[in-house]
Amino acid sequence: MIGIEGEYVILNRSAFYPESGGQDYDTGFLIVNGAKIPVKAVFEEDGVVLHRVEDSSKFEVGAKVKGIIDAERRLRHMRHHSATHILLHVLRKKLGNHVWQAGARKEFSKARLDVTHYKKPSEEEIREIERLANAEVLANKPVSWEWMNRIEAERKFGFRLYQGGVPPGKEIRIVKVGDDVQACGGTHCNTTGEIGLIKIMRVESIQDGVIRFEFCAGEAALDYIAQQESLLRHASEILRVEPAKLPSTVERFFEEWKEQRKEIERLKREIAEIKAEMLIVNAEEFDSIKVVAEVINADMKELIKLGEVLAEKGCVGCLMSSEGKVRVVTFSGDNRIDARELMKEIGRRIKGSGGGKPKLAQGAGQRALSRDEIMNVIFSYLSRVL
Ligand SMILES: [Zn+2]
Repeated sequence: MIGIEGEYVILNRSAFYPESGGQDYDTGFLIVNGAKIPVKAVFEEDGVVLHRVEDSSKFEVGAKVKGIIDAERRLRHMRHHSATHILLHVLRKKLGNHVWQAGARKEFSKARLDVTHYKKPSEEEIREIERLANAEVLANKPVSWEWMNRIEAERKFGFRLYQGGVPPGKEIRIVKVGDDVQACGGTHCNTTGEIGLIKIMRVESIQDGVIRFEFCAGEAALDYIAQQESLLRHASEILRVEPAKLPSTVERFFEEWKEQRKEIERLKREIAEIKAEMLIVNAEEFDSIKVVAEVINADMKELIKLGEVLAEKGCVGCLMSSEGKVRVVTFSGDNRIDARELMKEIGRRIKGSGGGKPKLAQGAGQRALSRDEIMNVIFSYLSRVL
């Protein structure tokens, strides 16, 4: 125990892996004077490993500290890290040597690898890449690492070593994961077989010339597959069919739903026609124009539909609904009358306003009018403009 900086503790040696090279940090415990203090995060700054602990007041410089790493978390990071090497190797083999690592991240439940490539691979290519990656796992190839002289390593393996960036120093750590060789400081499995299943979850183009692969390995892959299965099962239960029948069933339902929506539209139109005819029965005439004014219970959609039908039938007028808020439409099937102007007249009386097109305008206000009041407004307007 050599230092405390706020909530960070510094040790003379540490097995905790700090956030680095895209690999998430280790967590675990530090045991000091018999107390077990959780380590929440670990970072490295200027070569110093900083352990963010839950309670740094328990520590004092010079105290003996024992560290315990969350092994499951570390193992998942290792699997995801080794899988990243394999995936990159396969991508270069399959898509070409222009593929270069543009970024990588290895976490508890998933990993991602961004590579330079001009277009998103097809569904088939992705399955092939996944198959090739898993072939490397099944071949159970050894994973090894060694410190090598930089010049010698570059001569032997070329610059493809520096997928994760160029590390400093004369000696660099060379990691071989199966047939992949890279300069890398990360933690790895002992053999490719230990990675377990590699499952590609999503592939997307994140910017021009950069493709992102999201994937998971080992237990994380199992978790992911179980989750996908439960989604399928849930959807199957709702539709009461076998998962295999989901695509055809969903397609059929979707087609039916579209048909029914069309049918509903047609019926609504028919209802509006009938209602319009009933309203026309009570129409009053102004200079041979049929004037319709009515207060009805309807929502804005219905009012608009009715107004459209009435305008098509050559009527001029206004429909008002005072359910809750006062809603109003004005309409005109006569070229000399602008529904928007009529709306202004009505708006003035109901402390409201509206707008729309010459044939139909919609609005709202704060005060409802009676049928006769509306009729009066329309007649006095018509007598002024005609
Ligand atoms: Zn690496």
